[in-house]
Amino acid sequence: MRALVRRHDSVSQRSPIRPAERTLAGVKAQSLRAMNLSLALRHILAHPGEISRSGISQATGITRATVSRLVDELIGADLVIETDPPAGARGRPANRLVPAPGSAVALGLEINISQISALLVDLTGAEIASARIDDDFAGSAPDEVVTRLAALAHDLVADALPPGALFLGSALALPGLVAPNALTLAPNLGWRDIPFDSLLAPLAELSPAIVANEADFAAFAVANPLPGVPSGPASFIYVSGEVGIGAGIMVDHRPLSGARGWSGEIGHICADPAGPVCSCGATGCLEAYLGLRALARRSGLDRAASLDDIRAAAERGDEPVLAALTEGGAALGRALAAVINSVDIPLVLLGGIVGELGEWLIEPAREEISQRVLQSAWSSPRIEFLPDSRNLTARGAAHRILQRLVDDPAAWTGQHR
Ligand SMILES: [Zn+2]
Repeated sequence: MRALVRRHDSVSQRSPIRPAERTLAGVKAQSLRAMNLSLALRHILAHPGEISRSGISQATGITRATVSRLVDELIGADLVIETDPPAGARGRPANRLVPAPGSAVALGLEINISQISALLVDLTGAEIASARIDDDFAGSAPDEVVTRLAALAHDLVADALPPGALFLGSALALPGLVAPNALTLAPNLGWRDIPFDSLLAPLAELSPAIVANEADFAAFAVANPLPGVPSGPASFIYVSGEVGIGAGIMVDHRPLSGARGWSGEIGHICADPAGPVCSCGATGCLEAYLGLRALARRSGLDRAASLDDIRAAAERGDEPVLAALTEGGAALGRALAAVINSVDIPLVLLGGIVGELGEWLIEPAREEISQRVLQSAWSSPRIEFLPDSRNLTARGAAHRILQRLVDDPAAWTGQHR
């Protein structure tokens, strides 16, 4: 490990606050250079292996000489590599620029109800390694779970971090309401009001810099499929499902976070006031139909039935399972119709167990949406499922850490400290 960088923002749930030198009064040559360094890196990340120094100059309007200095700085920091021109290129072909594989690495961490996981991602977006433990964490002791996660992640970093790599730190995803300095509530874990000081203590050596809701991280990964490259859909609702159901809502590539960052709790939108009791204490919440445990119970399966058990039963044509899925899909459609009518977002992406079971859920959901969304007759919202979103939350967490490097490479390369 080259350096365990500890220069990070105070733990925050949303985009980190810009460093002070970015304020208007402080926009001097040095910070302009820092911004241009970020701009150059973003162009290289967006067009790896295609863009040259002069290509960056043309795209940004920065002079060729300045771009060359910026690129030299990125190469000197091991963030970028210059490759030979493509074979067969005509004239005086220019060298191409690519992000350096395995040189800057972030750790995404997730705690959920039925699993904890860790994922290492580098600046190219490559998954270096991952590890996961499946268990039942409902009603668990927070310090025990975080200590297990820390051990899992320490082993992963020790085994898989490439020699000489810059370790950028970690971000932690939690299934609930996350405030700026504390986990407020994770109802299915049975955790509430835990300050980060104590919650994150076992992870201290892994430099946890960002903590956020799991669906929000997953939505970030959908919007930014590669680190620093916002090439995913701009505005969408990402539905995340495990034991709980949540959503990350993005508008124009920005999270629709709400006043305190607690938006997206669609699992607790009422699908039927006369419906089953939810873990939150209310009745008829979406989660009481479509959460993993709820679905198992309503399907007549064992409470501990896994997603694979439910899928297998559905594929066999098991009637109670199919009925529970149809009902769950309809409840999902009613909840989504409320969201779409409120905030006008034309695209819904189903992830987690909701994505894995999408083939049974999507038609009943579509039917409710087309009936209940006022705009449907003019512009029908699209609803699609992501059949494999297993790592999306941890990936989003890692991408958020990598984004901090992309936003301000100078802070990490030690040029402007
Ligand atoms: Zn509820």
